[in-house]
Amino acid sequence: MAGFNTRAIHVGSEPDPVTGAVNPPVYLTSTYAQDGVGIPRFSDYSRVDNPTRAALETCLADLEGASHGIAFASGLAGEDALLRTLAPGDHVILGNDAYGGTYRLLTKIFGDWGVTISCVDLSDLDAVRASFAKSTKMLWVETPSNPLLNVVSIKDLAAIAHEHDALLVVDNTFATPFLQRPLTLGADVVVHSTTKYVGGHSDVIGGFVATNSDELATKLKFHQYAIGAVPGPLDCYLLIRGLKTLGIRMERHCSNARAVAEYLSGHDAVERVYYPGLATHPSHEVAASQMSDFGGMVSFTLKGGAAKARNVCEMTSVFTLAESLGGVESLIELPAVMTHASTAGSTLEPPASLVRLSVGIEDVDDLIRDLAQALS
Ligand SMILES: *Cc1c(COP(=O)(O)O)cnc(C)c1O
Repeated sequence: MAGFNTRAIHVGSEPDPVTGAVNPPVYLTSTYAQDGVGIPRFSDYSRVDNPTRAALETCLADLEGASHGIAFASGLAGEDALLRTLAPGDHVILGNDAYGGTYRLLTKIFGDWGVTISCVDLSDLDAVRASFAKSTKMLWVETPSNPLLNVVSIKDLAAIAHEHDALLVVDNTFATPFLQRPLTLGADVVVHSTTKYVGGHSDVIGGFVATNSDELATKLKFHQYAIGAVPGPLDCYLLIRGLKTLGIRMERHCSNARAVAEYLSGHDAVERVYYPGLATHPSHEVAASQMSDFGGMVSFTLKGGAAKARNVCEMTSVFTLAESLGGVESLIELPAVMTHASTAGSTLEPPASLVRLSVGIEDVDDLIRDLAQALS
């Protein structure tokens, strides 16, 4: 099999057979001419299928090592389509520092529908085992997690989920298939917010679900067109374009993040640094065993508490104060009141003085100089 970067550039994007165009055309069409009644050449309607969307799905599924990939209009739309395979009364186990939007979707939307959840510390395998009920259908894992960057063993959690006839779902948004391929480690489903590293330029919202299960893929494809939260062809093209440089961007995100984490670790104003690449990180060993590098996200707490954290977020100039992550530009934010505000009062609420960085691919000296002046 060809290497990651070769596949990211070529799979699904063969030169157009008619014109030789090296990029997949952006098929801005809602419908398709039919050769006879009920005999469409490609599909009957673009909500059902679109060639630009298909090119994206083929490429990203290949990179995840999946036989099926289904694209959605956002990460949460993909999660919604997946969760709709549950029935009222079903139970889901979620890591206790999951993405706030996933928690909100499960509690505020699927909660009303009769789905129940338990939030557990996924690094405590006994606690994970103990939280299974007869009705548990999914174990939902984010690794590295957001915003504390905990890393948990996908292999161990897959074994526990399968003992209980539940699916292991891995949100692979932070790692991307360049650093980690959950399906090869035993996961049943991978979900992505392609808004983040896959797109990589903070210019598109998208989601993706990948699986090797024919049965689950059939349900997801049905949900994709029956519910209709599909990405448009231009968005799909931006994601295809992003994928082509995913590998080289991730290498730079990782090396910059490591340098930033090391710098912060030695800074007097910093209380604790959360980066799985640091040997002092509690899950460094697990991370090294299942990821090829440690990613571009770094979080840290400040000795001066929430007020100091807020001040640092407002004092940077290369790091932009904004939610989201995974773009070429560096971002800084305060999870407790920004990305994770919806977890207030729950076990998922992050420390008040926690600052989260999405370390971009700028020159690392500029990033460190910017943090130095903001921390002073
Ligand atoms: C952003 C994000 C999501 C949600 O994706 P959207 O594209 O914003 O809908 C889900 N999981 C993680 C880990 C994320 O960072």
